[in-house]
Amino acid sequence: MKKIYLDNAATTPIRKEVIAEMITIMQEDFGNPSSTHSYGRSAKSALETSRKSIAKILNCVAQEIIFTTNATEASNWILRNSVKDLGVKRIITSKVEHHATLYTVQNLQREFGIDVDYVKILPNGDVDLTNLVHLLSSDVKTLVTLMHVNNETGCILDLEKTGRLCHQHNALFHCDTVQSIGKTEFNLAETNVDFIVASAHKFHGPKGAGFAFVKKGIILQPMLFGGEQEKGLRAGTEAVHQVVGMAKALELSYHNLNEERNYILDIKNYCKEQLLLNFPEIKINGENTFYNILNILLPFSPEKTAMILFNLDMKGIAVSRGSACQSGSPKPSHVLAEMLQEEDLLKPSLRISFSHYNSREDIDVLIQELKGI
Ligand code: PLP
Repeated sequence: MKKIYLDNAATTPIRKEVIAEMITIMQEDFGNPSSTHSYGRSAKSALETSRKSIAKILNCVAQEIIFTTNATEASNWILRNSVKDLGVKRIITSKVEHHATLYTVQNLQREFGIDVDYVKILPNGDVDLTNLVHLLSSDVKTLVTLMHVNNETGCILDLEKTGRLCHQHNALFHCDTVQSIGKTEFNLAETNVDFIVASAHKFHGPKGAGFAFVKKGIILQPMLFGGEQEKGLRAGTEAVHQVVGMAKALELSYHNLNEERNYILDIKNYCKEQLLLNFPEIKINGENTFYNILNILLPFSPEKTAMILFNLDMKGIAVSRGSACQSGSPKPSHVLAEMLQEEDLLKPSLRISFSHYNSREDIDVLIQELKGI
């Protein structure tokens, strides 16, 4: 049975060039980057070359990139530090954020008694920026945390405009760019953003590698204590092969960006077209969505909800109901709960997310199987 992977917002297959690069590092550059001999210096050089390469792609300074194990760690560190050490007394976020942000903010509220405000989400999935401006008009030291591309619906935040609004109101801006890094252009030197986060496994790199961008001039305190790694901000011996794999994956993503973006958009449009042709009552969740994510409301009865993923899985097709961490849960998605009416929330929604490894034939098989349910 040919397996079909349409869950690229959960994670992506690693590019073979990335695997080759990682193997070379593991075989040849196994030194500890903190060692002063040639083995250590070589490993350190691989690490710093990766940092420079990532910074160049995103148009920022190498020192602004701090390596972490993933985006969850990076967001936890940034949000916690902003409250503990930067004097943030209020966080503005939204109820459609990934739990890496939502649960961290809720914990900070419990632990430090900060105020938390949730910006309104419009029925089309967009963040209500008029409401954001209203919330920003307060003198309390504020941090805004909003995601760039929603991992369930693909809804896009206007990063430039949101950043401008935050800075006009003297608020710090943290943006979860996990779904967009490697998939769209960034110019961090020209964007009003203080912190962004990334996980390599979302752009065809390895799991266990990510980074935080922390704007020059913002001084955060260490997340881990120990050695001097990452300027003492994140102690512990660096996973050099993971970091090099992440940088290689990002380089390839941007080298192929236009070609792969056009290809993926064509597949998404074809999928949408075929779904609407075969299930005219289908609804699309979210309006202004990113090119690799399609979230649909199927015109099936609520009883079929649990069966759909199971049946597709039996046929070797991987899609999801929402974020990977909650796709096994019977609870409706916290993201769709902000956008849909009660009766639609009970019906099955599917997130189909694409990569350049997919083909139109994959979509034909998906449609065929959905028709059989
Ligand atoms: N933010 C978004 C938007 C995501 O999609 C994910 C992963 O699904 C994360 C944060 C967390 O990423 P990780 O589990 O790699 O830390």
